[in-house]
Amino acid sequence: MTSAETPLAAKLKDRIRRAGPIGVDDYMQACLHDPEHGYYRHRPAIGAAGDFVTAPEISQVFGELIGLWCAVAWREMGAPANLNLVELGPGRGTLMRDALRAARIVPGFRAALAVHLVESNATLRSAQAATLADCGVPLEFHDDVVEALNGRTRVGDGATLVVANEFLDTLPIVQIAYRDGRWRDRVVIVDEASDDLAFDVDRNDEGWEHGRTHGLVPPDLIPQEGDIFELSKHSTTLATMLGARQSHGPICALLVDYGHAKSGFGDTLQGVAGQQHVSPFHAPGDTDLSAQVDFQRLAEACRRAGLAVETTLPQAELLGRLGIVERASRLMAANPARAAEIEAGVARLIQPSGMGSRFLALGVRSEGVAPLPGFDR
Ligand code: SAH
Repeated sequence: MTSAETPLAAKLKDRIRRAGPIGVDDYMQACLHDPEHGYYRHRPAIGAAGDFVTAPEISQVFGELIGLWCAVAWREMGAPANLNLVELGPGRGTLMRDALRAARIVPGFRAALAVHLVESNATLRSAQAATLADCGVPLEFHDDVVEALNGRTRVGDGATLVVANEFLDTLPIVQIAYRDGRWRDRVVIVDEASDDLAFDVDRNDEGWEHGRTHGLVPPDLIPQEGDIFELSKHSTTLATMLGARQSHGPICALLVDYGHAKSGFGDTLQGVAGQQHVSPFHAPGDTDLSAQVDFQRLAEACRRAGLAVETTLPQAELLGRLGIVERASRLMAANPARAAEIEAGVARLIQPSGMGSRFLALGVRSEGVAPLPGFDR
């Protein structure tokens, strides 16, 4: 399929022909959030029948362990009588449903909760409301992260726990490319020969190399011709917002996503459609686009924002420390008819060559809070 086939491709080509090349971040923003044609506006398809399957959709154990993690973290915050539990990008609401159910065993935890769901997509907000209709705790929706954490309509003051799974990878990134001995913006153009969207670099000498890359590419990384480096301004903003939120009370956050623990060069922008990897230019607006999370940069941004940062762990290691094997065994014993399915789901979450190592978990907290469960060794 070529990019000519979607209305968003036509709209973007028209925009580029009129106003010039657009940055990779603008391209990603349009593909995901264009008000008429963006992927998350009209067809977010999460789950077995959709475009991509996430950990909570693979196994209920994922959300359950995160629920228990939240309850233990709450205790370590001193078991405050009121706790804001904020989830960023809750998808179908599956993680939160499983988390709240599992956390019933911790006395007092649920009674302290106000759950806040930060979701930009109206269809998914309805799905989340339906999934959580009987959850028994107060729910509130927000459509913007910055507003939810620190804006005028922010979640109430007091202790706050933030969880996010596969949220950061959807945030638009900037790419810079090392060409002719300098960093330049990577941009999206219309290739006049093929009439398709294509990548190019911005030849404008006012680009990144004029001091703007200073401190952006870590000094220990020495670029070669053609190298690409990715920057997520939105992740940095999120880190700043988590830090700033501390003026309203202590905070802990658990951020799980696929990515790399150390910053490096590479182009990680990918399209996913029908559970297959496709070109980022495949059917714009009908394809999910994401990029790997640079956990080193994210951790540094959190530290700069005044938060304590735990060592980033592979998903398999965190889930192992939180007792995934024991929990799966108990669940299998209680549901013998579903034992094989439960075992297969859990195996997929911790598979060493798959999700277990490709997904990483970052834990951050206010300095006054004890080290976070699972990270605290
Ligand atoms: N956490 C879920 C869904 C992951 S998909 C799961 O693990 O299954 C990404 C989610 O983030 C979707 O719910 C999407 O609509 C939401 N999202 C993407 N960009 C967003 C933004 N800028 N603000 C709020 N929500 C966003």
